[in-house]
This record gives sequence, structure tokens and C-alpha cells, in this order.
Amino acid sequence: MNLESFHRQSIEDREGFWAKQAELIHWNKPFGQVLDYSKPPFARWFLGGETNLCFNAIDRHLASQADKPALIYVSTETGEEDTYSFRQLHEEVMRMAAIMIEQGVGKGDRVLVYMPMVPQAVFAMLACARIGAIHSVVFGGFAAHSLASRIDDATPKLIVSADAGSRAGKVVPYKHLLDEAIELSAHKPSCVLMVDRKLAPMTRIEGRDLDYASQREKHLDAQVPVTWLESNEISYTLYTSGTTGKPKGVQRDVGGYAVALAASMKHIYCGNAGETYFSSSDIGWVVGHSYIVYGPLLAGMATIVYEGTPVRPDAGILWRLVEKYQVTVMFSAPTAIRVLKKQDPAYLTAHDTSSLRALFLAGEPLDEPTAQWIEEGLGRPIIDNYWQTETGWPILTVAHGIEKTPTRLGSPGMPMYGYDVRLLHEQTGEQVGVNEKGVVAIMPPLPPGCMQTVWGDDERFVDTYFSSIPGKLVYSTFDWGVRDADGYYFILGRTDDVINVAGHRLGTREIEESISSHSSVAECAVVGVADQLKGQVAMAFAVLKDPTVIATTSGRLALEGEIMKVVDNQLGAIARPSRVHFVTLLPKTRSGKVLRRAIQALCERRDPGDLTTIEDQAALEQVREALAI
Ligand code: ATP
Ligand code: MG
Repeated sequence: MNLESFHRQSIEDREGFWAKQAELIHWNKPFGQVLDYSKPPFARWFLGGETNLCFNAIDRHLASQADKPALIYVSTETGEEDTYSFRQLHEEVMRMAAIMIEQGVGKGDRVLVYMPMVPQAVFAMLACARIGAIHSVVFGGFAAHSLASRIDDATPKLIVSADAGSRAGKVVPYKHLLDEAIELSAHKPSCVLMVDRKLAPMTRIEGRDLDYASQREKHLDAQVPVTWLESNEISYTLYTSGTTGKPKGVQRDVGGYAVALAASMKHIYCGNAGETYFSSSDIGWVVGHSYIVYGPLLAGMATIVYEGTPVRPDAGILWRLVEKYQVTVMFSAPTAIRVLKKQDPAYLTAHDTSSLRALFLAGEPLDEPTAQWIEEGLGRPIIDNYWQTETGWPILTVAHGIEKTPTRLGSPGMPMYGYDVRLLHEQTGEQVGVNEKGVVAIMPPLPPGCMQTVWGDDERFVDTYFSSIPGKLVYSTFDWGVRDADGYYFILGRTDDVINVAGHRLGTREIEESISSHSSVAECAVVGVADQLKGQVAMAFAVLKDPTVIATTSGRLALEGEIMKVVDNQLGAIARPSRVHFVTLLPKTRSGKVLRRAIQALCERRDPGDLTTIEDQAALEQVREALAI
């Protein structure tokens, strides 16, 4: 079978195609109807079918591999390293579920998880899935007001949290942030379950706060049966990263999500039961939901839950773990690879990574220089995949489980089965031709696994995602793309990242790609800045591999000139940034995405807007300093 005909089948015979994929999971009760699309753009999958994510992730594997590893915990922050077999994971999840049930949590109730990367965070997610509660994971360490707004949106009965996380060797206490958030929020959870890692002191609020360890003791022998759920019931809500503005609350189902993930594990990630999957993401993001917790476990794989950075204790840590646990499938983000690029490349070969079938990267454009650097350095296949919190699994990539399509540098690949991807002209809504820029859009119905709606706001779902192309009910990704003659897609950046210089429309991504090809540059961000004469001009901010090259003013000016020349040569003078500022840090979201809108706002002397998901405020200070604000 080739990918193209597999894809065609998935669009021409949606129901037949997905009914077949649905065989990859266990159904307690078979579904009657594969797809209900009677209320566009809302799609409902596997109607009447009963299943459970936790059962498919754990219980289903007990017969054949109860004593095989299921969850491998590694914290380079605290030095902990633990392995839970499927049997042990089953027990821990039932204990957690019993604690929740005792606190009155049941089907449809929300549980907010505000946790660092510890096994208990995964227990909590799976326990919710087991009893039909809806989890809402909020990235650990978010500031109190961002947490408060999520508490008000999810209105959880229970919050599961911990005393602290740890990042790059620094303890990040959570409890005071949580207490402050609950002060600020209108909704008050009736119970807060605290995991005490003994990293930071906690004040306990009588009658509300419970200690996880002592509760667990009470339920050591808990037997909690799974609650079977109709396929379209809600499994979780999760916010987008907030790169372009206010985060959106994505709501996901049970059956469609389970089928989509199981299918992706087979066709895209090619992971097999008994092997180990390592995603260096965080459970606070969609990658963590799909490919730390549910995807690998559904496939019967062990999953590595990692607390730490890619460079501590040294820049070889990720590869050391690959070697130690014989990881076959790995998932990371371009931003992590760019961090490694600033380190000695010898780390890439210091460990035996031959067990790796492929390293998947997603979350941001994977620029060619970075892709090449890691592919050559590691000597393993690198596969870019393009998707969104909204879709839950890849839209564009290659599916080596179907066909060994070669990858192409700079391209995530081609449309995945189930996604009827179109490149549309932003004004006319017509499909654009080969090598022409268009908005990446998906003709509904969206495939299984994609968001059902915006939590509590169907209207916002339709208005936000299905109303941007005039006269057409089509899902917009809000990203620009182009397709070459061979069918490979390239993402050119977000629709609001296009700049207009004297009537020429330029994607900031193209300019960034060009700047990144200069050998001194580790990463960069380009934004369009209002200009009286030209409408907009490009402004660049670059992080260098070795900042000492700009220690002198003449060195700095020379490098700025060199970089401008690179852009002139590759894209033409029209794309040349008006300035290249050097910083040591770019403002990013906690998920590692460059906050171009904030940089742009500062360049235009505007308020940088919603910064609830920013990683490090100091990066904004650097931009301010560079601009001498
Ligand atoms: P928000 O929607 O709140 O602004 P966000 O879009 O950053 O935040 P995510 O859902 O985490 O939230 O990110 C999805 C986006 O990330 C995509 O729409 C795209 O812009 C970018 N992206 C993800 N993977 C890739 C990739 N492989 N290549 C290029 N861009 C990517
Ligand atoms: Mg988005």
C-alpha cells in the first residue's frame, strides 16, 4: 500500500476506513454508527460504542505483559529513577482513582492537574480516564493568575498538585501559587490533593488539602473497575500554547481519540508493544497527552516520563537515556535541538543510539540547518511532524508504517490519512496551485482525535476555526503552507506572521530560515514592524552559538552585515531585516515557541499582551534593551 492510496481511501470511504482502525482498540460495546456529521462542523465518531482510555492503556496489556515496564520515571533534577510495570501502574492508578472517588469525584466531574513531571501526574490523568472524570492539565509552575483563569474555566471538584517542581537545578515551589490562584478564582475546588516531594515547605489548608501519601496508604488494595464511556463523552480539556493570543480550551472525546492515537502509533510512529517510547515534552502540552501518556501506553509500550532539561547533567543526557532504555521511538521539539546546537556536537555520538528507529520533532518549524545538524550528528532518521493542540495527532508527516516515503529537509511531509488538507487562497478561498502560498485548511469533518469543540463554547469553536475563509465551512489552521510538485508540504509560518514590505508579502519563517543558515546563529526570530515608508520592515533577533564573536562593536556590526548579506543573497534585498539584534534568549512560551507577537509589540512600542504562558520574562527585557526602550 502506498501512502497516497491509503490517504485517498480515508477520505473517500471515511466510515470504512475508520471502522477498520477502530479494531486497534478494545470496545466494551461495539459502536453502531462510525460517523455522525449531521450538525457540521461538529463530528461525532463511533456512536454508541463504549470504551475507556485507561483500560486500553493499562488493563488490556495485563494478560500479556503485566511485568513489563510501562512507566519509566527519570528526574535529573532530583536524581530519582524508577520503573513501574503495567501491573504496578494499574495498582497506582486504582489507588489514585479510589482517592478521587472518596472525594466525590465521578463521571463528568473535572479534575485539574497542576503538576511537575512526576509519575503521580500520570496516575492522576489515567485515574480520571478510568472513572470518567475529565482531566484538565495545567502546565506546572504557571503563574497564579493564569492558573486561576483555568480553574474558573474548568470548575474542578478536585485539584491534584505537588509542593514543587524543579527546573535546571532550581526548585520551583507550586503550593503558594496554587493557594493564590484559588484565592483569585471565583470557583473553589472542594478538595486539593498534594503530593509532597519534600522539595519545598507547604502550608496546609485545613478541610481542603489532603496529603497524597497518607491517602494512598488507605487505598493500597483498591480495586476500581473502569467506567465504560460512550465514545463521544469528554476525556479532557487542554489549552493551546497561547503563542498567538489568548489560549483556547480544546475539548476531546474518548473513543475517537483512542482510535486516532492507536492508529498513529502503528502507521506513523511505528512503535511496538514491549519497546520504549521517549518524549521529552511535558504533560502540560498536547504532545504530553498524546505521546507521553496515552499513545505509547495504548500501544503497550513503556513510556519515559522525564523531569529535566536536555543539557543537565550534560548535553548527552537524552541520548544516554536512549541507550540505557533502548528507546525505539523518540519525540522532541526543534527548540530542544536548537539548545543542543549550542553545545559540543560530540555529545550526539557519545552514546549508542542505534536502537532509535526515528526521532520525531514537532511544535515549531524545523529549519533546515537544525534538521541537517541533528540528522548528521545523530545518524538516525529525523521526522518532522506538523500538528496542533486542536488536532491531537499529526496533520502532516510521513507514515513509515504505510510506506517508506523519503523525508525532505524543511518539510514535515504530506497530509495524513483522515485529513482532507487544502491550501486555500486567504481571500477567495480557492485552492492555490503548486508552489503557491495558501492557508493550510482542513475540509471537515475533522478525523477522530481532533477537538470536539471549545470547552463550554460551541459558538467560539465555529467562529474561531471555521469562519475565516469567506463563504466556506472549512477548518483553518492559521498557518501558511505551500506544496511542491511532489506533494511535500512546507509550513511558512502563522497567518499573522506574514509581513508586507512595500507591497511584497514575506513569511517571517523564510527570513528566519535564511538567517539560521549563517554558521554563527543558533536560533532567531523575525517580526514585521510598522514602517512609515514601507508599510512594514523585518526586524531580526538572533541568538549566537558563541556570543563572544560580538564582544566588540566592530565584531557585532560585521556580523550584522554578514547576516544581512546572507538574506540578500538568498531572498533578495526586500527581505533584508532593517536590524539584526543580538540577544542570548528569545521570548518563548513554556512549550518552547517563539512569542513573535510579544517581540513585535515591543518593537512597535505596544503592550506585549497576554504573557501567561511565557517561559522567562528576562527574554523580554533583552528585547527591550536591544531596542533601547
Ligand atoms: P495558540 O493557538 O494559543 O496561539 P499555539 O498555536 O502555539 O498556540 P499549539 O497547538 O501548541 O499552540 O501549536 C500548534 C502550532 O505550532 C501550529 O499551528 C504551527 O504554527 C506550529 N507547529 C507545530 N508543529 C509544527 C511543525 N512541524 N512545523 C511548523 N510549525 C509547527
Ligand atoms: Mg494555535
